Amino acid sequence: MLEQLKEDVCRANQEIERSELVVLTWGNVSGFDPKQKLMVIKPSGMDCKQMEPEFMIVVDLRGSVVEGDFRPSSDTPTHIELYKAWDDVMSIVHTHSDYATMFAQAQRSIPCLGTTHADFFKGSVAVTRSLSREEVKEGYEKNTGKVIAETFQKRDHLSVPAVLVSGHGPFTWGKTTDEAVKASIALEKIAKMAYGTLVLSPEAPNLPDHVFKKHFMRKHGPKAYYGQGGEGKND
Ligand SMILES: [Zn+2]
Repeated sequence: MLEQLKEDVCRANQEIERSELVVLTWGNVSGFDPKQKLMVIKPSGMDCKQMEPEFMIVVDLRGSVVEGDFRPSSDTPTHIELYKAWDDVMSIVHTHSDYATMFAQAQRSIPCLGTTHADFFKGSVAVTRSLSREEVKEGYEKNTGKVIAETFQKRDHLSVPAVLVSGHGPFTWGKTTDEAVKASIALEKIAKMAYGTLVLSPEAPNLPDHVFKKHFMRKHGPKAYYGQGGEGKND
């Protein structure tokens, strides 16, 4: 079942390793099938290099394995909470990529300091609040998903498809596995640039609002004119 989604999820898990966002087994990608309300996710603790589409695990929104020979990723309850919170998200990526994780550990959001950021994310990338002692003890992974959804109560999760979980690392998402992986790659790049900018100039100002709006809207607004009629690229 869900053979195409298994292929997409397997390829995306390999892609985050190839893109050097993940070492060892510190990351996972899932995909969601809205018709059957089933999620496909990588097996727990499996190296990306060993992965084959048929090893992917199919899980329902209660967390029960519907198909698969392995245990699903230990972060499965986090992914489930996000699919339950957002019915327009079809893929979620979690990594511990270096620079995004540095901001998460510093418990700092990533400010929009330049047009590279504004081309992809509409505003700063938020950091969640820390989980309470009780939230860690009872359903840690599920509560990680809940705290991410809480962070977006007053924000649009599709115009900033990324978050930093405080003291932990980044999650990104999209309407396809490719989109969610791209968001992880973009996030790591803008985190690295923000880090360097803040080292060179700790008081660096945010990108002025009029430049910010121009850059975001030329790719994402109703009058977007960037690219070849489809999805834009940065140049
Ligand atoms: Zn993690």
